[in-house]
Parts: sequence; structure tokens; C-alpha cells
Amino acid sequence: MSRKYRIAVAGFGVAGAAAAAMLAQAGHSVTVFEQAPELLPVGHGILLQVSGQIVLKRLGLLRIVTAQSEPLDGVHVQSATGRTFLRLRYEEAMPGYRGYGVSRAVLMEALKFAADRAGVEVVTGVEVADWFEENNGVELVSGTAELLGHFDFIIAADGSRSRLRGRCFPVLKVPEYSYGAFWITGKSTQVRGHLKQVVYGSERLLGILPVGDGNCTLFWGLHKTAMEGARIRGVDDWCSLVEEYCPEAREILSDVYNWERVVPATYRRCSLDTIFTRNAVFIGDAAHSMSPHLGQGANLGLMDAALLTDALETTNSFEEAAAAMQRSQHGMVRYYYGLSRWLSPFFQTDATPLAWARDIALPVMNKVSPVRKVMTKSMAGVKQGMFSSIDYTNLLPASVKKPARQENPENTTS
Ligand SMILES: Cc1cc2nc3c(=O)[nH]c(=O)nc-3n(C[C@H](O)[C@H](O)[C@H](O)COP(=O)(O)OP(=O)(O)OC[C@H]3O[C@@H](n4cnc5c(N)ncnc54)[C@H](O)[C@@H]3O)c2cc1C
Repeated sequence: MSRKYRIAVAGFGVAGAAAAAMLAQAGHSVTVFEQAPELLPVGHGILLQVSGQIVLKRLGLLRIVTAQSEPLDGVHVQSATGRTFLRLRYEEAMPGYRGYGVSRAVLMEALKFAADRAGVEVVTGVEVADWFEENNGVELVSGTAELLGHFDFIIAADGSRSRLRGRCFPVLKVPEYSYGAFWITGKSTQVRGHLKQVVYGSERLLGILPVGDGNCTLFWGLHKTAMEGARIRGVDDWCSLVEEYCPEAREILSDVYNWERVVPATYRRCSLDTIFTRNAVFIGDAAHSMSPHLGQGANLGLMDAALLTDALETTNSFEEAAAAMQRSQHGMVRYYYGLSRWLSPFFQTDATPLAWARDIALPVMNKVSPVRKVMTKSMAGVKQGMFSSIDYTNLLPASVKKPARQENPENTTS
């Protein structure tokens, strides 16, 4: 039987909540400390990929989440004039599979349900700031210098702005992208069944993701320095600009009268070479933050939760488990981090020639079936490297993967 631990998790985001629920299900004693005073059902749309679905299935949450989400057959990238640049369909590369547009609130509620069911203790309004070693474990310390208890180890799942990462890796550089985005979710029936992206030059990127219940999340990428200017010019001006650029955005923006519902977001980039120390392991955005253009962050956070749980099952000490987890996630994280770093400038950049290259290359790549298939599997979150993928085949029941062949009655013998 594998060893059972007393575990502290810092942060109840996607990665922390999934890890807490899965580890408690596996018999560990888990306490989560979340700095927010309450767990509020907030946030915008997330593209739940095949990788994320595998983890939700293991948690027994896949049906609950997908029942409240929008099934997606793929992604459609087009120019502002309506010319198709790229059309990726899950069905072509992975028959029977699909993505889901899901609101973060739905995903977090499901993870909270699983955590409660497994007996996780969630303490809100407490920021984890530090820890010190004691009795073969750690004594956790809050931001107000209170002792939070004794644990065997800590899981740092405190997001892309991780304070705990700074504590352990003080010289690590975590640069912020020069482009961010405005996000808003609203009622809309204009885009259904796929993620729509509209690109223009190097400075304009719009996405509309249906997220179920008749809602869509819209994102409008813009340079960080342009955010304040847009605010000063007013929300009407911004809405008119977006609607003119993409008429399908009109319905989502129809009841936007001020900036209250429009959320600005900026992104950071970092990937830890070593994701653990003697008493702590980093998961989710705290270990690997990237721009959201590839839509992989939440899915990678879910995968981390599963890989850590498996590593603890098959080893006899925390350090062995953390090293095993690092080995098993290394290929996937390196692939997606590299891809995100490499591709982001082609979508939003100060260097216009990169956008021209994209406009030439994407339609050509879109015509080549093997290339499309690689891109689709990358989108689905299952790649571990250019030539390898994780085994995702257990996600679907056998009857869906291989539909029974129709018997020819004339060939049957009695
Ligand atoms: C606008 C936007 C759109 C995105 N769209 C997608 C998408 O379509 N698909 C996708 O896969 N990914 C997407 N992502 C990325 C995805 O949201 C993140 O990768 C994912 O949320 C990371 O989860 P996490 O648990 O690591 O961090 P977070 O979700 O950031 O959670 C960290 C938690 O830790 C808490 N915390 C922080 N510090 C402390 C502390 N010291 N002590 C205690 N608690 C603390 C925070 O309050 C927070 O609750 C998007 C990101 C953004 C910003």
C-alpha cells in the first residue's frame, strides 16, 4: 500500500482544487488555503480540451461539467474580411472526440463539489506566505505571520503571480507579455459549436467562445499600453470598434453600458526547470504560466493534479514522487510552453512582418491534412512532443470509438 500524507495546498484555483480533490480521493489528508475571502463563482470561458476531460473523468465530474457546457467541433480562424485561415476539427484527427466551452464558474463549482465529497478542508481568506522545516515536514506560515499547521509537504498552486515561487526561486525571471486582453461573457447565439477567432494584422485578435447556457465569452487582445486609452475613450467607443470588426460580437455587447463587466487581463510567462524543493511542489500556472492563446493553461493544471496523484501512489517519499511527476509532465509542459512562446508573437506582436508571415503560412498549412492533424492534436492538449501523444483512448467508451459493424444478414449462418 502506498504511503498516505498530510498535505497543504496553497490556492484553490483549477490546479489546486483538482489536486486537492484527487489526492483526498486517493486517501491523503488535504487542507487547502485560499487567499480569497470567499469562493465566488466568477470567471470567463475556458476551452476544456481532451487532456482536461481525461482528468475530470477520473474525478467523476466529466458528465456534470459537459452537461453545462457547449460541445465544440473545433476552431475556426479567419481574417477580418471573412477569409478562412485555419479550420481545425477534432473529428478529423481524433474521431469521436471534441472540446467543450465551459464557464470557469461551472468548472470550479464541480471541483469544489468533488473536494467536499472527498473530505478536503478548504480554509478561505488565508494567504500562505512561508514555511519552515520541522519534524520531517513543514510548519506553514500565513501572510499575517500566523502558524497554519504541520504538514508533510506543500503543493504551491498559487497561480501565475505565485508568491511562493518567488520564495523558492528568487532570481527566476517572470516577464509579462506586452499584449493583454479585455474579456466579457454575455448572452449570444451568434457563434455555436466552435471557437471563432478573427485576426487582423499584428494588433487585432478577437475570439468568441460559446460556453453553454446561451452564453459566449469574448476576448479582445490589445497592447497593455492601449488598455488605459480604450478606457478613457469610453465603453461605447470600444463596443463600436469591436462590433464593426466582428458583427457576431454585437449580441454579447448589446447590454454593455459601462466597464464593470469588461475584465482586463495580462499574462506572464515562466516555466520552472525543477518543479519541486525539499518540501514543496509547484503545479499549474505557478509552475508553467503562458499566454492563453493556445487555451492550455487550465488543462495543464488539471493534468498536473493527476500526475502528482499517480506519482505519490507509486513511490515511497515526497521527493521521489515529485521527481517522478516532473519526469512524466516534462515533455508535455515543454511542448506547450515552447509552442505558446513561439506562436504568440505571430498573433499579437509589435513586429508586423510576423503577422504577414502568419497570413501566408496558415492557409497553406490548413490545406495539408497531416499538418492539420498535428495541429488538432496539439489543440486537444494531448501532445507530449512533436511525435508523441498521451494515451487518451480511454476517454470514450469502446462502443463510441469503434461503432459496431453492420452485419450483412446474407452472410450470417444459423
Ligand atoms: C483571461 C484568461 C483566459 C484563459 N482561457 C483559458 C482557456 O480557454 N483554456 C485554458 O486551458 N486556460 C485558459 N486560461 C489559463 C487558465 O485560466 C490558467 O492556466 C488556470 O486558471 C491556472 O490555474 P491555477 O490553479 O494554476 O491558477 P489560478 O486559477 O490563478 O488559481 C490560483 C489560486 O491561488 C490563490 N492564491 C494566490 N496566491 C495565494 C497564496 N499565497 N495563498 C493562498 N492562495 C493563493 C488565488 O486567489 C487563486 O484562487 C486563461 C487565462 C486567462 C487569464
